Amino acid sequence: MPSIVSCTSARPKELFVSANPKTVSRSLVHRLVWPNAIFGSLLIGRTPEELAKLKGMVKQLSEAGLRAEYLSSGALLLEEPALAVGKEDGAAFLPDDCQLDAQRTVAFIEKANRHFALKGRYAEFYHDPAVSLLRSGSSGEVEAVQTSKNTLYSKKAVVIAAGCWSGSLMHDLVRESNIALDVPVKPRKGHLLVVENINSIQLNHGLMEVGYVDHEIGTHPTSSLGMDDHEQTLSISMTATLDTVGNLVLGSSRQFAGFSTEVDDSIIHRIWSRAGEFFPTLRELSLTEFAKSRKVRIGLRPYMPDGKPIIGPVPGLPKVLLATGHEGGGLSLALGTAEMVTDMVLGHPEKVDSAPFSVQGRCG
Ligand SMILES: Cc1cc2nc3c(=O)[nH]c(=O)nc-3n(C[C@H](O)[C@H](O)[C@H](O)COP(=O)(O)OP(=O)(O)OC[C@H]3O[C@@H](n4cnc5c(N)ncnc54)[C@H](O)[C@@H]3O)c2cc1C
Repeated sequence: MPSIVSCTSARPKELFVSANPKTVSRSLVHRLVWPNAIFGSLLIGRTPEELAKLKGMVKQLSEAGLRAEYLSSGALLLEEPALAVGKEDGAAFLPDDCQLDAQRTVAFIEKANRHFALKGRYAEFYHDPAVSLLRSGSSGEVEAVQTSKNTLYSKKAVVIAAGCWSGSLMHDLVRESNIALDVPVKPRKGHLLVVENINSIQLNHGLMEVGYVDHEIGTHPTSSLGMDDHEQTLSISMTATLDTVGNLVLGSSRQFAGFSTEVDDSIIHRIWSRAGEFFPTLRELSLTEFAKSRKVRIGLRPYMPDGKPIIGPVPGLPKVLLATGHEGGGLSLALGTAEMVTDMVLGHPEKVDSAPFSVQGRCG
C-alpha cells in the first residue's frame, strides 16, 4: 500500500469525505496533514481526446457540487512552473483535493477505534488470517469466522474485504458448501519511486497524467514495449507528489505479475523517464545519482475486470458481504465503502445506488 495517496474528489458527492483543512476540524488536519502538504490536484492531458475527457470530467464534478476547473496551457504553467507545458496541453484542476499519508490515516483510525475496545465493540487480530466460515447446522447461516488462532462469532454480518486476496479467500471460505463463487479480483502490481534530497523540483499540487485514471480500467497500456505477455500488461503513467518530509514521490506502474512484490529496476527506470517527459529538470539528472537516497514502494491493487468495486451481500450466504476490487482508488474510497456496507448491514436507506457494485452477476 502506498503511503501517500491522492484523496480524489471524483466520486459521488454523498460519499465524499473531504480532508480539506477548510472543512474538517483543526485537530484532524493536524494529525493527518503534514506541515508542508500540498493541496489541490492537477490531471494533465496532452491530446485532443484527453482534453475533451478532462473537460467532461470538470463538468461532471462541478455538477456534483465539487470545485473543479479546466485550465488551458497558460493557466497550467502558472500553477505548476516546473512542468513542461505544450501549447495544446490542458488540465483539470481540483483545488480541494489533498494528499493523505496512509500510515498516519490508519494509525488515526486505529486509535479512534481502540476507544470502542473497552466497550467490547472492537478488537484487532493482526497476523491471524481467516481460514473458514462456521455455519449453523440447522439454518446454514454463517455464525462465525474461524481464523488461524481464534473463532470470531458474528451476530450481524461478516464482511470480506481482503483486497486482491478476496477471491482466493472467498474460495476457501465456501469450499465446504455447495456455493460456487469465483470473485474475479486480481492483483495489479504497482511501483512508486521515492527520491530524497531532490531540491530542483518544486511542486504546488499533486499531479498525474490523464492516463493514470484511464489505466484503472483498461488492460492495454500506452507505454507497452510489446515484448511478451508480461510486458503487454505493463503501463506507466506519470504521477508526482511530495511526501510528509518533502521527498518527491513518482509513479506509477500497473502490471499483472501475480502476487509478487519484488522490485523490478526496469520499471523504476521507466517511471523516471516518463516523469522526465513532464519535468525537464529530471532529464538532466541521472537516476543513478540518487541510488543511495531512493526508495521503492510496491503494492497490489485489487483489480476487477469491469473496473468497478464489488460491494454487497454474497448470494446464498446470508450475513456475508464482500467489499473489494477498488483497484487504484481504494484509499480514497475506503470511508465511502464503509458507509455503504454499514447502511446495508443496518438496513438503512442507501445514500448511493449500490446496484452497479453488487456481487450478483459479476462472479462466476
Ligand atoms: C502504487 C499504488 C498507488 C496507489 N495510489 C492510490 C491513490 O493515490 N489513491 C487511492 O485511493 N488508492 C491508491 N492505491 C490503491 C489502494 O492502495 C488500494 O485500492 C487499497 O489498498 C485496497 O484496499 P483493500 O483494503 O481492499 O485491500 P488491501 O489494502 O490489499 O488490504 C487487504 C488486507 O486483507 C488482508 N488479508 C488477506 N487475506 C486475508 C485473510 N485470509 N484473513 C484476513 N486478512 C487477510 C491482507 O493482509 C491485507 O492487509 C494505490 C495502489 C498502489 C499499488
